Amino acid sequence: MDLVHPVPPPRRPAEQLEPVIGAARYARLRSAANEFKAAFGDRTVWNVNSTAAGGGVAEMLQVLVGYVEDLGIAIRWLVIHGDADFFAVTKRLHNGIHGYGDAAAIDPAEADHYRSVLLANAAELRQLVRPGDIVLLHDPQTAGLAGPLADAGALVVWRSHIGADTASEASEAAWEFLRPHVSAAHAWVFSRRSYVPAWLDSSRVWIIPPSIDPFSAKNQEMDSGTAHAILATIGLIDGKAGSAGRFVRRDGILGEVTRPASVIADDLPGPGDDVLVQVSRWDRLKDMAGVMHGFARYVASRRDCHLSLVGPAVTDVADDPEGAVVYRECLAQWRTLPAPARSRIMLVTLPLDDVEENAAMVNAVQRHASIVTQKSLAEGFGLTVAEAMWKGRPVIGSAVGGINDQIAPGTGVLLPEPADLRGFGLAVRELLDDPPRRNRLGESAHAYVRQNFVGDFHLLRYAALFSALRAGDGQR
Ligand code: UDP
Repeated sequence: MDLVHPVPPPRRPAEQLEPVIGAARYARLRSAANEFKAAFGDRTVWNVNSTAAGGGVAEMLQVLVGYVEDLGIAIRWLVIHGDADFFAVTKRLHNGIHGYGDAAAIDPAEADHYRSVLLANAAELRQLVRPGDIVLLHDPQTAGLAGPLADAGALVVWRSHIGADTASEASEAAWEFLRPHVSAAHAWVFSRRSYVPAWLDSSRVWIIPPSIDPFSAKNQEMDSGTAHAILATIGLIDGKAGSAGRFVRRDGILGEVTRPASVIADDLPGPGDDVLVQVSRWDRLKDMAGVMHGFARYVASRRDCHLSLVGPAVTDVADDPEGAVVYRECLAQWRTLPAPARSRIMLVTLPLDDVEENAAMVNAVQRHASIVTQKSLAEGFGLTVAEAMWKGRPVIGSAVGGINDQIAPGTGVLLPEPADLRGFGLAVRELLDDPPRRNRLGESAHAYVRQNFVGDFHLLRYAALFSALRAGDGQR
């Protein structure tokens, strides 16, 4: 295999979920797994996406594939290969679906390239996938595989992790491009109903929100001493680490954060200082620059607080070609800030050489934050929101896309106008001034995520979808 590569996440004991989700939910998960095995025998479930690390899809596959394996179901995860031109096209499709960019201008040569890269990947996949196997394709990067794999006799489900609540010229153009590819799948999954294009047969559409894993290095319990140690080790707070920044790896072995982050800062916050944090890829739609300017203009001079903008190392997310450009733009803008504001703002990139070490860094960053924000201009779901809520952090999120599904009344703050920097600054200041409210929001946030966004529901929905597919009705 030259193009397609397996990712083997370690098996994760499903029974560890029981204390978190309770006996009744755990029993449902077990019996769904048994029913699935009885119905599907040794058929394999294949997940196919375009990166093993960085971004929400990889984050979820790392976890869910491990649990499903432990439940005794044959499941595999494969990553396709594409070149820079291919990912430039898929990024335009990604932005287009969110209502931005120039997907309409994708020319026939670029469309041909998209098709031919995926046909080459499909040829390798067809050597692995047997008729009757289930193939779960993730996002526009894989849509062109649906036809070839359906022709090979697989049951093909295509999942879009992105979407916009309202159609626009850009989103119509991206969907028009994808339509012939996507239409070849037997069923489709979206994170929200409003993301579903009108031309899809709604009886074969499933709505399945994403989920987080309480035991991953990203979300596992971490005491404040360890969080401090990690932040000091990677260079995000002033002072010495004191102890080792340890975390538990998926295979149960202890890991330790040792690599430094790359930090751009004039000054570092002390361990006890308030910090506002946004963790995300360097993607324009996450609006790191907007967070920076909103903070500089409306918070920095009025409250004693720091801002940390944290994303992955820009060369490391294979399918995100704009990352480096967006990061450089933020850096250039940071340099032009007035010195007093600039001294409160850090730009941080975290190494992705070891995905779990990177996750432990994110865990420490989120846990240490006084407030976590996700001021996206568009957002499919926004796992970073659920991650921070799970950690009992008060979250200020834009009222866009899936963030609306996560921040229920009393569990965080929704910004009605994501581009309104003044409104954003005001929301930050209000929360900084009211620690009891921050605690209340954090507690409700944790409970809400436990109730709605832990992986068992996610897996149960997939099991129901696959059973319906097998029964040939695809009904939701
Ligand atoms: N993330 C990470 N390391 C980083 C930056 C981000 O692991 O350095 C993770 C983040 O914690 C979250 C995922 O990337 O799990 C981003 O998912 P989200 O749904 O928020 O956005 P997406 O990137 O899928 O648009």
